[in-house]
Amino acid sequence: MTPTLSPAPAFVYFDNAATTPLDPEVLDAMLPFLSQHYGNPSSLHGAGRQVRAAIENARKTVAHLINAAPAEISFTSCGTEADNYAAFGSVRSLGLKHAITSPLEHHAVLHPLQALEKSGEVELHYVRHDAQGRLDLGHLEEMLAAQPRTFVSLMHANNEIGNLNDIEAIGEICARYDAVFHTDTVQTMGHYRHNVQQLKNHFLVGSAHKFHGPKGVGFLYTRSGLQVNPLIHGGSQERNVRAGTENVYGIVGLAKALEIAVRDLPQHQAHVQALKTRFVEKLRAEVEDVQFNGLSEHADHSLYTVLSVSLPPSAISEMLLFNLDISKVAASGGSACTSGAQAGSHVLDALGCDPDRATVRFSMSKMNTAAEVDYAVEALAKLYRQVVA
Ligand code: PLP
Repeated sequence: MTPTLSPAPAFVYFDNAATTPLDPEVLDAMLPFLSQHYGNPSSLHGAGRQVRAAIENARKTVAHLINAAPAEISFTSCGTEADNYAAFGSVRSLGLKHAITSPLEHHAVLHPLQALEKSGEVELHYVRHDAQGRLDLGHLEEMLAAQPRTFVSLMHANNEIGNLNDIEAIGEICARYDAVFHTDTVQTMGHYRHNVQQLKNHFLVGSAHKFHGPKGVGFLYTRSGLQVNPLIHGGSQERNVRAGTENVYGIVGLAKALEIAVRDLPQHQAHVQALKTRFVEKLRAEVEDVQFNGLSEHADHSLYTVLSVSLPPSAISEMLLFNLDISKVAASGGSACTSGAQAGSHVLDALGCDPDRATVRFSMSKMNTAAEVDYAVEALAKLYRQVVA
């Protein structure tokens, strides 16, 4: 028999930091709540109580998986909303006058804090970092010593460059100065184990669609004893923290997705880490002057799911993602701003990256394969060969 060559994949998806495909097991868990279990969880009759029980079970599952108490978990519409709760909720409810973050945070954290600064409610300070995005924790400590009882928001992992921050060490520093510490764990929830008993944080967050759950649902962990005022008013759902009829099938899906993620974490981590290592090696071999942004290529200091690739200046830089898309590779990009008018990546900008180099972020999941990595590298290398030829 003549061996058949494997055909080019129809579509290669390497944008899992933006969102992940829904796990079929999660869909199965959700479907009954889109069909037969339609009661309103606030209704007192049996149909409502059955749905209420599903929400409370989901809360217990999420709490158990991060070693929290169920009462410490509030479901939200997404990670952005949970980050907003942590920022507005703690600054306003606790009367904090100073906030500390870093210029490398996601806009879900930066924009609420900048809004609080603009309204005069807080003075906002930024932790220094180096050109690879490592935070200067000595600077954090200096600022907290000058201004204890501050709101601190520093992410666990950066969504663009993949850098991991030492949130245990940050929590210890915050605790020494009685700071309120929120960490945006959107990119690590479901990909790393979280144990709030080992962290000195007051808040952390999750977003289901980043770990093969549905879009439009997230959660906020609030350490017990900390009372934050609601952002949405109009009902007593979520223990008065967030009014509005719950996204029941989303909440059920979130809990199922987190359960699966934690259950299968070691195998998936090994699989995806191997894909990332292969990506780095193949890119080095195939694309001249390839570099990696931040700590992206360092296995111990960056997300195993994210590889931020910096490519040499070329005529195709601006159209790179479009060309990759035509080659059936979905990835995301970013570049440092060339002028104030051009919106680029605030993270690459803050790192002082060369605006003439193009960035492609490949982000992987358990559903990707080695063959897809090879295909994506070859597609990218081919585009560059065409320009140089
Ligand atoms: N924080 C980080 C680090 C993210 O990567 C994202 C999404 O990309 C968010 C917050 C916002 O999450 P959501 O899409 O659920 O609003």
